[in-house]
Amino acid sequence: MSYDPNNIFAKILRGEAPSIKLFEDEHTYAMMDIMPQSEGHALILTKEPAANLFELSPEAAAHCIQSAQRLAKAIGKALAPDGVVVSQFNGAAAGQTVFHVHFHIVPRRAGEALRA
Ligand code: 5GP
Repeated sequence: MSYDPNNIFAKILRGEAPSIKLFEDEHTYAMMDIMPQSEGHALILTKEPAANLFELSPEAAAHCIQSAQRLAKAIGKALAPDGVVVSQFNGAAAGQTVFHVHFHIVPRRAGEALRA
């Protein structure tokens, strides 16, 4: 799949669209999800222009996982959830809606359903 540089996450990374930023480093950008599935739902974006995991370099993938771990730990400290889901989707059939690689960090509380 070819990468569209006008996707919303590319615009956020270029500062052309707003976001609630949590942190960033040379390789990744962490922000709150605009339609959270639970309180504290956040995203890690790669700064590499890649639509999906198959196009992402192994180095960028490793940086994403490092940042996902950093964010999951921070959320664990801040919100003390009962669990945290780290997920990532590839292709519309898999549920991907923004075609720029990102990881979801979704805090979960026992017995609480995800928001639609
Ligand atoms: P996907 O299904 O592609 O893995 O998830 C895309 C995620 O990006 C969704 O959870 C959606 O709520 C979130 N999202 C879509 N547009 C924006 C936006 O403009 N800003 C932020 N912060 N999140 C967005």
